[in-house]
Amino acid sequence: MTSGVDKLISGYRKYRESIHAQHRSLVEQLVTHGQQPEVAVVACSDSRVDPAILFQADPGDLFMVRNVANLVPPMEEEGTYHGTSAALEFAVLGLGVKHIVVLGHAHCGGIKLMMEPDPYDSAFKFVPAWVSMLNAAHRRVLATMTNASSDERTRACEQNAVLVSLENLTTFPWVRERIDKGELQLHGWYVDIAGPDLSVYDWERGKFVEVV
Ligand SMILES: [Zn+2]
Repeated sequence: MTSGVDKLISGYRKYRESIHAQHRSLVEQLVTHGQQPEVAVVACSDSRVDPAILFQADPGDLFMVRNVANLVPPMEEEGTYHGTSAALEFAVLGLGVKHIVVLGHAHCGGIKLMMEPDPYDSAFKFVPAWVSMLNAAHRRVLATMTNASSDERTRACEQNAVLVSLENLTTFPWVRERIDKGELQLHGWYVDIAGPDLSVYDWERGKFVEVV
């Protein structure tokens, strides 16, 4: 039986023979002139929601930032190892991306862990601390959706995670500055691969609207 990593090596062989061959001139251009992606995506590390596959992206299309629950932390001066903030700085200041898409998703393990207290007693240390940036949003959902089902509350928390990330993005001065100049746009998207449906946050209506 083929193991998970053997599958990757044979996958790379297929990539080299077909995808790379198909995009040879594009890849050569990207190597010579460097990457110039217009879009940065903040997505969950979840193996089921790979933006490159979902959006059928080509090499050089997407600057990708992935972490548990597709979160952007608020701007912090202290500390050294800010992986997500460093990646976003690279995307905005280094590459000048024109769009940042925060992609939330259904059935998110990180959100589930934030909503259910049990795993806090487990061996996890970093995940609860990371998703705790959603605690206030979770409290708001619990307070306002008293008659909702547990699935509806989970979906609301997953979608709120996108909104919290969008809000936190604006705490970075170089993001704010580029939005004000009209050089950068923020987008909140939410995918449910079971549907499969894609919803987009409508800023004017203040809600997610299904588009595909
Ligand atoms: Zn997730």
